[in-house]
Amino acid sequence: MLLNKARLLTPGPTPIPEQVRLALAKDVVHHRERNFSELLLKVEEQLKTLFGTEQPVLPLASSGTGAMTAAVDSLFAPGDKVIVITAGKFGERWTEIARARGLQVVELSYEWGLAANPEDVETCLEENRDARGLLVQLSETSTGVLHPVKDIAAKLKNTGVLLVVDGISGVGISPCPMDEWGIDCLVTGSQKGLMLPPGLAFIALSARAWKVAERTKGSFYFNLPKERASLARGQTHFTTPVNLIQGLSAAMDLLLGDGLEAVYRKQWALTMLCRRAIQAMGLTPFARANYTWGLTSVLLPDAVSGARVQADCTSKYGVTISGGQDMLKGRIVRLAHMGWIDWADVTAALYALHRGIIDNGGFCGSHDFLEQGLASYRAALEGEPGVEPVLLHN
Ligand SMILES: *Cc1c(COP(=O)(O)O)cnc(C)c1O
Repeated sequence: MLLNKARLLTPGPTPIPEQVRLALAKDVVHHRERNFSELLLKVEEQLKTLFGTEQPVLPLASSGTGAMTAAVDSLFAPGDKVIVITAGKFGERWTEIARARGLQVVELSYEWGLAANPEDVETCLEENRDARGLLVQLSETSTGVLHPVKDIAAKLKNTGVLLVVDGISGVGISPCPMDEWGIDCLVTGSQKGLMLPPGLAFIALSARAWKVAERTKGSFYFNLPKERASLARGQTHFTTPVNLIQGLSAAMDLLLGDGLEAVYRKQWALTMLCRRAIQAMGLTPFARANYTWGLTSVLLPDAVSGARVQADCTSKYGVTISGGQDMLKGRIVRLAHMGWIDWADVTAALYALHRGIIDNGGFCGSHDFLEQGLASYRAALEGEPGVEPVLLHN
């Protein structure tokens, strides 16, 4: 029982740093109290920095999917046409949410493992001039792919089509400056890059998206104009999970402490560590393009059961990693390295993965996979010339 530390390398929930745990343990305060309002307003400024926006970032008491639902219900009315980029499980979720709202969905679909192509977006827009919105993930967590949101946003400029981005596994992990890129709606959740337990979601709208949201009746619970009005007074429309907000304040202090650049650089370096190591093991990353910075998806050798590898990682080494979803069940494992994860956690997970594969009949590749991975990690951290721009589009 005391042999291994439990290490959580899943794409949500993620581990929580001590400073945040201590903040979470504080006494419950009343959400209408002045001290709490002051805390909320302070956190709000930090959230704006995180989102890269001048607009308010509204905390919602829900999982990330709640904010996705709030986005769709607030920005579109039944019958509206939207384009959804689907290249995995979470793209499909946008479709499901949009259909539940009675929207007409045009899917721009890609094989799982691929990223969207901005040229296709342009064509799709031309073919669907009546589209009101385009829904996409920043990071498609089911495959480990980063969609080129910046370039997609550039295609949407001057079209009047609202760009709605699910940044749940991307915000606080890789850059996504909302105002600079021209994103109309950005959402995220608490349990991935933000180093908090599940339970909070965040949503921000652009000025033009707010105009739409003011007209469209969202739901009774997710009433964004009312949330915005409350937040201006340091309040939330309903009872907010006060302890999570206290934890959020500590998490934001940590995230912004050394600047977001430092956070992104670390995330990139961990991605390089993972990627190089699994290649040295003779394995292939499942993402075929634009890999995301918060997780690495690994295609397993045909003969090896993903479920067994995962179970071994947990039972023998204390490392929890994720499997594939839907048709990728058993075929891939996903090693998440987002939030409060460092090189030592990732190294432990890579070792566990390596042993898990060998013990279940797979091959092992090179024995110095950790040294190779760590060499890439150091190079990325030190910021070899030219690394930064490559980061965004690889
Ligand atoms: C985790 C995740 C979600 C779902 O978030 P919940 O908090 O489980 O509702 C949605 N989109 C992406 C990209 C995710 O990674």
